[in-house]
Amino acid sequence: MRFGVYVHFAFCPYVCPYCDFAKWPYRASEARRYLDALDAELMREPSRSATTIYLGGGTPNTYDAGTLCAFVERVRAHFPLTESWQEITVEVNPELVKLRDFADYRAAGVTRVSVGVQSFDERETRTLGRRHTPGDVRETVLRARNAKLESVNLDLIFGIPGQTSRSWRTSLETAIALEVDHVSAYGLTIEEGTRFAKLYAREPQQFASDETQAEFYEIAIDMLAAAGYEQYEISNFARPGHRSVHNENYWNNGEYVGLGVGAASYRQGVRSVHTRSLGDYVRAALSGVPIPGESERLEGKRRVGEAIMLALRTAQGVRLDAFKERYGIDVLEDYAPVVATYAAAGFLERDTNAVRLTRRGRLVANEVCGAFLALT
Ligand code: SF4
Repeated sequence: MRFGVYVHFAFCPYVCPYCDFAKWPYRASEARRYLDALDAELMREPSRSATTIYLGGGTPNTYDAGTLCAFVERVRAHFPLTESWQEITVEVNPELVKLRDFADYRAAGVTRVSVGVQSFDERETRTLGRRHTPGDVRETVLRARNAKLESVNLDLIFGIPGQTSRSWRTSLETAIALEVDHVSAYGLTIEEGTRFAKLYAREPQQFASDETQAEFYEIAIDMLAAAGYEQYEISNFARPGHRSVHNENYWNNGEYVGLGVGAASYRQGVRSVHTRSLGDYVRAALSGVPIPGESERLEGKRRVGEAIMLALRTAQGVRLDAFKERYGIDVLEDYAPVVATYAAAGFLERDTNAVRLTRRGRLVANEVCGAFLALT
C-alpha cells in the first residue's frame, strides 16, 4: 500500500484574489515559528515508511533552500521512503526561485517541482494577482533541467477574466514548447470569502461562463493530447512515466498524513483535517496538545461513495474487480440507477471491468460524482 506525506507551508509573498487555501502573507518571525510547529508535529507522528512526500502550500519556497532542504531531510528521516517509489515534490513560485535552489533540492532528494504559472499572458497573471513573468517561468524550467530534477509540472488556469481562446492556446503552446513533463489545468473557481467572490457579485460578466470554461477545457484536452500528454485525471496531463504518484494515491483512496495548518489526513478509514486558524495550530503543535480540527470515520456506503468519486476523476475510472475485492460491492448492481442515467446521457461509459467518465462526462464531473455520493 502506498502512503503519502503532505506538508503544508502556510506563507506566500502576497495573497492572490482568487485563493481559498490556508495561507498568510510572509512574515519572517511567524514563518520561523511555523516551521518549529511543523517540526513539533512531525516528531509526534509515529514514524513509518512512506512512498511520497509533497511540500505544498501556500508557497514552500518563501523559505530559503537551506531551510527547506534541512526540513525535507528531517521528514525523510521520520518517514523513510520505500525502495519502490521515491517521489518528493516541492511547489514553487517562479519569481522566488534562486540560481542554486534546485541543485540544493536535488541533493536533499527532491525529484519533482510543481511551478505555479497559471498563465503566460502577463495581463492575465496580473489579474490573478501574480507578479512573475513568462521569463521567470522559462528560467525556472531551465534551472530544474540543469539540476536534473526528474519531473517538472506547470499549473495553468483557464477561465481567467479577460482570457480569450487565443491567449489560452498561447499559454498551452508555451508550456508544451518548454517540454515540461506534466501540466495541471484547472478551471478558475469562485471561492467564497475571496476578493474574486466580491468582484463576481458586482460584475459577473467579467468572468468566463460555463460554456466558455468548457470550451477552454476542451482546447486543453486536445492540445495536450496532440503533444503526447496523457490525461490521466480530470485536470492532470502527463508524459509517459511522469504521473504524480502522490496525487494518484489520493485518487486511489490511499492513506496519507497531512502536517500543518488546515492539512488533511486519511488513515484507517478516518478522514481528519486540522484547524485553519494559524494561531491555534501553532500553539497546539508547540505545546504538544492535540491539534484542533475535525475528523470523521468513513464507513459503509459513504466510504464507497467517496472512493467512487475519487476513482471517477481518473482515466482508468472505477475498476469493478478492485472495488469488489476492496469494498465487497458490485458497483454496477449497487449503483445501477446512477450508472444507467448517466450512461444514457452520454456522461459515463462501461467496459467489462470499468466504469469511467466519457469526454463529455468530464465536463460535468462534479454532477456525476455527486450523484454517486447522494446514494450513500
Ligand atoms: S494562489 Fe498560491 S501563491 Fe496565491 S495566495 Fe494562494 S497559495 Fe499563495
